[in-house]
Order: sequence, then C-alpha cells, then structure tokens
Amino acid sequence: MKMLPTILSNLFSAPATRNYPFFVREPFAGARGELINDIDKCIFCGTCARKCPSQCLEVTKDKTEGTWSLSFFSCIGCGVCVDACPVNCLSQKTTHRPVATERAVITMRGKLPEKPAKKTEAAQ
Ligand code: SF4
Ligand code: SF4
Repeated sequence: MKMLPTILSNLFSAPATRNYPFFVREPFAGARGELINDIDKCIFCGTCARKCPSQCLEVTKDKTEGTWSLSFFSCIGCGVCVDACPVNCLSQKTTHRPVATERAVITMRGKLPEKPAKKTEAAQ
C-alpha cells in the first residue's frame, strides 16, 4: 500500500523521457558534434593529426596534393584539432553524424598552397 501513491502518480503523469527517435531534443548551443574540414583552406600541415588524442586523423602529402582522413568511429568530438588548426579550416556542427553500420574513413584530397616564388637578384 505504501507504493500506491507512486504507482498512481506514474500512471497519470507524463513520461520523464522522450520517445526517441520520434522526438529528438535540439542540441545545446556550442555542442561539439560532427567534424567538418573546409578542405580548400587546409594546408595539410598535420597539426590536427599530431594533437588528436584518439589518433583518428591522418594527414599525408606529396609535392602538389595532400590527403586528410578521419576515422569517424574513433573520433570523440573533443575539439582539440579544431583549436589547434592554424588556418581555422576545421569546425564542428552541433549535431552528430548519422548512425552507420560499418566503420568507414572519410578521405578528402586537396591542393597544397603554392610556395612563394624565390626572389631573383633583379627583384631585390
Ligand atoms: S591542422 Fe588544419 S590545416 Fe593542418 S592538416 Fe589539419 S585541418 Fe589541415
Ligand atoms: S575532435 Fe578530437 S578526437 Fe575528433 S578528430 Fe578532432 S582531436 Fe581527434
């Protein structure tokens, strides 16, 4: 009998949880979600990969092109790479990447920035 008030209260009150996935709460402002790279601004310096605590980033380059890869199942969304990027080409959405059933790596390629031409004696 001691439980009766609690049982009745639970029966006639609204649920304490949301009926996910039919009702999804809006993300908080500043929430750290999906990692995005504006690859046209990336200079492939590798700073993000060196700083990433999850080791889920890989940056390689040759003479003209670079590759930036993210193993997104390993990303913990900490934002360390976003803060470390010297050209601010990394950002995070407030929402998370859609669920996936297979592990995958996102790979993006881009051109390396052109080096400034060496000064000639005539130009000095
Ligand atoms: S730190 Fe920024 S510029 Fe450097 S490789 Fe990473 S994303 Fe590209
Ligand atoms: S958000 Fe954190 S875990 Fe994800 S790639 Fe950047 S540094 Fe690595």
